[in-house]
Amino acid sequence: TEPLLKVEGLKKYFPIRTGMLGKHTGNVKAVDDISFFVNEGETLGIVGESGCGKSTTGRMLMRLLEPTEGKVTFNGKELTSISNDEMRKARREIQMVFQDPYASLNPRHTIEKILMEPLIVHNIGDPKSRKKKVHDFLEIVGLSSYHAKRYPHQFSGGQRQRIGIARALMTNPKLIIADEPVSALDVSIQAQVLNLMQDLQKELKLTYIFIAHDLGVVRHISDRVGVMYLGRMVELATSESMYAEPLHPYTKALLSAVPVPDPEFKREQIILEGDIPSPSNPPSGCTFHTRCPFKMDICVKDVPQLQEAKTGHFVACHLYNEQLQH
Ligand code: SF4
Ligand code: MG
Repeated sequence: TEPLLKVEGLKKYFPIRTGMLGKHTGNVKAVDDISFFVNEGETLGIVGESGCGKSTTGRMLMRLLEPTEGKVTFNGKELTSISNDEMRKARREIQMVFQDPYASLNPRHTIEKILMEPLIVHNIGDPKSRKKKVHDFLEIVGLSSYHAKRYPHQFSGGQRQRIGIARALMTNPKLIIADEPVSALDVSIQAQVLNLMQDLQKELKLTYIFIAHDLGVVRHISDRVGVMYLGRMVELATSESMYAEPLHPYTKALLSAVPVPDPEFKREQIILEGDIPSPSNPPSGCTFHTRCPFKMDICVKDVPQLQEAKTGHFVACHLYNEQLQH
C-alpha cells in the first residue's frame, strides 16, 4: 500500500540579497533535498538542533511555506501541484500543533470560539453541531465543556497545549504535524501531553509527524525517526534501530546527551565541538565535517548520500561507504 505522505527531493532555499540593489548573492539552503515517507497510523519523529530545517520542512508539507523544489504527495494527491484554493481544502486533513500554544491562541477569544473557528473555515456542520463537537473534544483532550467560556490566559501551559491539540483535531484530520509540542512544557507535564497524543492516535487513527530537538522526547512516541543537520536528513531508521545502534556521528552525539534507563548499557560518548555552522555558508562535502571526530579527506569534498546501511536503516556518512559497496 502507498504511504499516507510521500516527500521527494524537498528543498527550501531563501535568497540572500546584499548591497543597495539587493543583488542575489547566494542562498540559505534551509532544507536541501530531503525525501521520506510516512505510513498511515505511524509516527515519524524528526529531530535536530534549531536551524536544521525541521520546522521549515513541517511548514512546507502544508504549504504554509512554498517549497523551492520537490514533491509532496498526501493520500494520493500531489499537494505541490494543486491550486491555493484546493490546498486550503486539503488542510482540513493535515493540521499542525505548535510549540507555543499561547502564541497561536487568540487571547481575546474564548476557547469555544477558538475551537469553532476551524469548523467555520472548513464549513463543517451547523452552529449547534459545532458547539457539541467543541464540547466533546474538550473532554477528549482531558478538559471539560465547563472550560469553553474561558480565555487562553486562564489555563496552564499544559492545558493550553491540550487546547492546541483539540483545535488541530476539530476537522478530523488524518495527519498531525506537531512542531515541538512539548518543548515549552515542564518535564512532568511533557509526559502527560505525550501520553494524551498517543491515546488520541490510537482512538482516532491519526498519523503523526513529531518534530523535536531532543531524541529523548521522540523515542517512545515514534515508530521511525529522522535526524536532520543543516537542512539535510543524515539518518533515518526505526526508533529501535536508531537508539540501539545509531550510525551517524551526529546522531551518536545527540544520543550521548540522552540519559539511558539501563545503567548497565554503556553508550559510545561523542561530545560535539563547536557550534552549528551558518546555513548561509555551510561547510563543503559533509556539512557535519567541522564538528565530526571521524572526519576523513573525502568528507570535505563529497556530499554523502542517504543510503540503506542495514535493512530499513539509512545513513548519510562516508564511514559506511565500504559497507555499502559489499
Ligand atoms: Fe563525519 Fe565524514 Fe561521516 Fe560526515 S561523512 S559524519 S564528516 S565521517
Ligand atoms: Mg523550530
